[in-house]
Amino acid sequence: MTDSYSLRLKFWGTRGSIPCPGSETVRYGGNTTCFEINFEDQRLIIDAGTGIRLLGKKILLEEGNLLNAKLFFTHTHMDHIQGLPFFAPLYNPASNVNLFAGHLDGDNYDLHGIIGTMLMKDPVFPVPSSLIEKACTFNDYDVGKTFELGSNLVVKTGKLNHPNGACGYRLECGGKVIAICTDTEHFEDRLDENVLALAQDADIMVYDAAYTDEEYPKFKGWGHSTWQEAVKIAQAANVKQTFLFHHDPSHNDDKMDDIKKEVSLIHPSVRPAIEGEEIFL
Ligand SMILES: [Zn+2]
Ligand SMILES: [Zn+2]
Repeated sequence: MTDSYSLRLKFWGTRGSIPCPGSETVRYGGNTTCFEINFEDQRLIIDAGTGIRLLGKKILLEEGNLLNAKLFFTHTHMDHIQGLPFFAPLYNPASNVNLFAGHLDGDNYDLHGIIGTMLMKDPVFPVPSSLIEKACTFNDYDVGKTFELGSNLVVKTGKLNHPNGACGYRLECGGKVIAICTDTEHFEDRLDENVLALAQDADIMVYDAAYTDEEYPKFKGWGHSTWQEAVKIAQAANVKQTFLFHHDPSHNDDKMDDIKKEVSLIHPSVRPAIEGEEIFL
């Protein structure tokens, strides 16, 4: 990274549920969730959806396939982990990547168990997790934990409302704040106090807006929210800039353009996230 900025967020994948490449999703992207955050000399990755393959390709071509980073999972639903076996730097034993998950109770599965005995295990996947384990540590934490990562970087965590659990993140980077709230479903009778706490006065909030309010009744209980709810949180928590995220696979570019236009009329600082987009603070 260069010295021309101190904090950068890049969206490597903005889609939810399943990758949806094709001519109708070229502008907003078809890869599932992955964020990269660079702050001073630290590198954080959130989620390992299919977008992480593109990050890995960049590291392979530009950085000798060597990575030092912390990778926080929001949770381990397939759309958030399925890119991990295709993330090239993990196959370099000299890399050092600490993986964290906070939504598992540990009674049945921990993070290592999910990656090693469910994702990267034959006959589901032919390459065993032992090939990435020299480069990785697997860490489970209890949601609510705060990570003090030095260099003026603090990562706060909060429980989201999602089937099988999910963790939201509040990254306090010097004086700047990035809140990541996906995957989560709103409550119909109140704003989610956990989401509000993560998002309060954030410079950037990324919020699960898989659906529109009109679509939502068909998907109640599936663990996702709407752009209209994103606006409510943004206003209540005094968020400066909000990115709608976890785009539903059925929302093609034209539909996303419609959402962008509609939301801009209500709250100009809220708009859909675009795969490949970088934000500098
Ligand atoms: Zn998801
Ligand atoms: Zn999920």
